[in-house]
Amino acid sequence: MTCIFWHIVAHELPAEILCEDNDLVIFKDINPAAPIHFLIVPKKHIDSINGLDEKNAGIVSKMVLAAKRMAEQHGVQSGYRLMINTGREAGQVVYHLHMHFMGGWGRKPVIR
Ligand code: AMP
Repeated sequence: MTCIFWHIVAHELPAEILCEDNDLVIFKDINPAAPIHFLIVPKKHIDSINGLDEKNAGIVSKMVLAAKRMAEQHGVQSGYRLMINTGREAGQVVYHLHMHFMGGWGRKPVIR
């Protein structure tokens, strides 16, 4: 495997890792598109949603539940966005399944 997330998951490349368990690694997006922007990444390599089947699709519910926990921990249950880009036309750049967790807009200063 040569994709960048594979190397982050294997701790061979640095990343701002927030938490990790047997199945997932969660780290900060290097180019945040929201005040809070994490990536929820399975340890097992799957290219994209297109690589899921009945045997491995359970990882997606683990990703969603991890997102829910992150929302609680970061106090953004009032609003957060989960996004999985799938394929070049949708803007997928890294071919290792990942879910974007974005939120924190309520923390922005109000501009009058
Ligand atoms: P996608 O377009 O869904 O494939 O998203 C890939 C995301 O990975 C982008 O938001 C990038 O900013 C992010 N990214 C790429 N390289 C790194 C890295 N080394 N550490 C953290 N985030 C990264």
